[in-house]
Amino acid sequence: MLSPPHRQELAEALLTELEKTRNAIHVYEEMTQPVSPENAIGRVSRMDAIQNKSVAEAALRQARSKLNALEAMAKRLDDPELGICPRCKQPIPVRRVILMPQSPYCVNCAS
Ligand SMILES: [Zn+2]
Repeated sequence: MLSPPHRQELAEALLTELEKTRNAIHVYEEMTQPVSPENAIGRVSRMDAIQNKSVAEAALRQARSKLNALEAMAKRLDDPELGICPRCKQPIPVRRVILMPQSPYCVNCAS
């Protein structure tokens, strides 16, 4: 149960995070472009590039799932159950709701 001002704060946090996450996805997508074999870079740099690419791929997967979670929360802004953990049914501290807008769960249930 969130008060209207807290709901408004959550809506703003969601907008900020949605934009940040979309930008991050864009950057990671560029970083995960195939590493060209005919690049005039040495073998070691090429191995570096491939390793960086798999790090970026992991980050991309994470950012995409965060984006899905944020979008799901954005659809729930009118939900009266917002701020109640769907697992343990306990109220979630408002600070957590606003700092972790992508998580519908309380700290204990999220892990
Ligand atoms: Zn919980």
